[in-house]
Amino acid sequence: MSYSKPKFKASYGNFINGKFVEPLGGDYFDNTSPIDGSHIAKYPRSQKEDVEMAIDAANAAKDNWEKTSVTERAALLNKVADIIDENLEEFATVETCDNGKAIRETLNADVPLSADHWRYFASCIRAEEGSVAELDEHTLSMNIKEPLGVVGQIIPWNFPLLMLSWKLPPALAAGNCVVLKPAEQTPSAATLLMEKIADVFPPGVVNVIHGFGPEAGKPLASSSKIDKVAFTGETTTGQLIMQYASKNLNPVTVELGGKSPNVFFNSVMDEDDAFLDKCIEGAVLFAFNQGEVCTCPSRMLVQEDIYDKFMERVVERTKAIVQSNPYDVNTQVGAQASNDQYEKIQSYLKIGKEEGAKTLCGGEANKDGDLSKGHYIKPTILEGHNKMRVFQEEIFGPVVCVTKFKDEAEALEIANDTLYGLGAGVWTRDAHQLYQIPRAIKAGRVWVNCYHAYPAHAAFGGYKKSGFGRENHLMMLSHYRQNKNMLISYDKNKL
Ligand code: NAD
Repeated sequence: MSYSKPKFKASYGNFINGKFVEPLGGDYFDNTSPIDGSHIAKYPRSQKEDVEMAIDAANAAKDNWEKTSVTERAALLNKVADIIDENLEEFATVETCDNGKAIRETLNADVPLSADHWRYFASCIRAEEGSVAELDEHTLSMNIKEPLGVVGQIIPWNFPLLMLSWKLPPALAAGNCVVLKPAEQTPSAATLLMEKIADVFPPGVVNVIHGFGPEAGKPLASSSKIDKVAFTGETTTGQLIMQYASKNLNPVTVELGGKSPNVFFNSVMDEDDAFLDKCIEGAVLFAFNQGEVCTCPSRMLVQEDIYDKFMERVVERTKAIVQSNPYDVNTQVGAQASNDQYEKIQSYLKIGKEEGAKTLCGGEANKDGDLSKGHYIKPTILEGHNKMRVFQEEIFGPVVCVTKFKDEAEALEIANDTLYGLGAGVWTRDAHQLYQIPRAIKAGRVWVNCYHAYPAHAAFGGYKKSGFGRENHLMMLSHYRQNKNMLISYDKNKL
């Protein structure tokens, strides 16, 4: 079964104060599909004044939104989840067209997971309880959670609807109003969602402005009229965001890049065994979402005594990955999200060769048939060592770099020899290893005998240069709140 390119209007506006509005300066940018280079639509090239308009709308809405009851806010979040579910195929085709990822991923992961995040945060605030402590017989200490006010959110292009759904629901559930800027490469899913939910929230509670980082993202993150910045993107951009926000002493959470190790111990090897098959699938997951995942298992570490046999299976499985028309449900790997990304990955393939890495499979663009019109890279395995640039720098493509290790100590040394600390995978049948090794890896999420699962109720976030703050899980609500402590005396006489 195959889907086709969805229909778009010629142009779209920013979503401000409950309405779509044209950019004040009248400038738009063209958005194209990485699948075949075809035109999608024009989106606003917003500037500071557009951003300010959105921030003003959010500030005007915040007093009333703060006062809404938990039940009311939860009902609205649930409504958004229902709308996403009801329009699954439309969201999936728009996301595939805009980002290039295979439709089977958008249908089965991006869109349903997005709906689930809205639903999850609706249920979190219903289930929450506060804390009261009796300090002595006359004195109570009461902790009350208050929203911050207006939150600026900036997201990347790799999971446009999902990153939006990681950001908006907790901020809104906590009682904040939001101005969100999607990535300029993938503005379509956020726009479609605003069309579908235009009447769900009171005007000004949710605002979406389109445009480029320095023109629209910077004024948002620098504004003195917001109360927090939440950012997901590259580490270098995250550093800039912190500088902008520091002028206003605004709190920041940053979810940044990664170079995640995926470690396979010798106990995984047992021919003709279902667990080994699972491990092989876990190894080829570097190709999931074209490798454009912050937690892409882009460094594969395999114990030396199983290396040859294990890699034979991994290479064979990688060569069998179906890379074809992203609208076809059988396609496993689609197009890279943009021409910049396509060129960046190819430059790393060249760097890898120059560094002496050996290409075990792939290693080039895929120009087969219709794919020649888009940005396709063959799933690639490079063999080398951890000091190479291709092992150390985020390629953000379907490229895994594989190396051997001798024992647990060497596995840990290589796994932690990186600037990043976002994700990691550990595969073993050994009970000791499956607890001790993940505990010793410096990363915010370690998958053990699994990979690339992102449930809403499991905390996710980085160590080291992968950022700070957590996404998902109810602990994330604390990033969007103040804690008000009320110290109450019931003593009539003493102060
Ligand atoms: P990017 O940093 O280039 O852009 C992200 C967003 O920031 C975009 O909306 C962009 O317009 C905006 N931006 C760019 N420059 C800006 C500036 N000077 N001021 C304000 N805003 C600015 O990142 P990208 O290329 O879109 O995304 C890929 C990166 O995101 C990768 O490094 C990936 O690992 C990371 N990522 C991390 C997570 C996570 O949860 N840790 C999730 C997804 C992606």
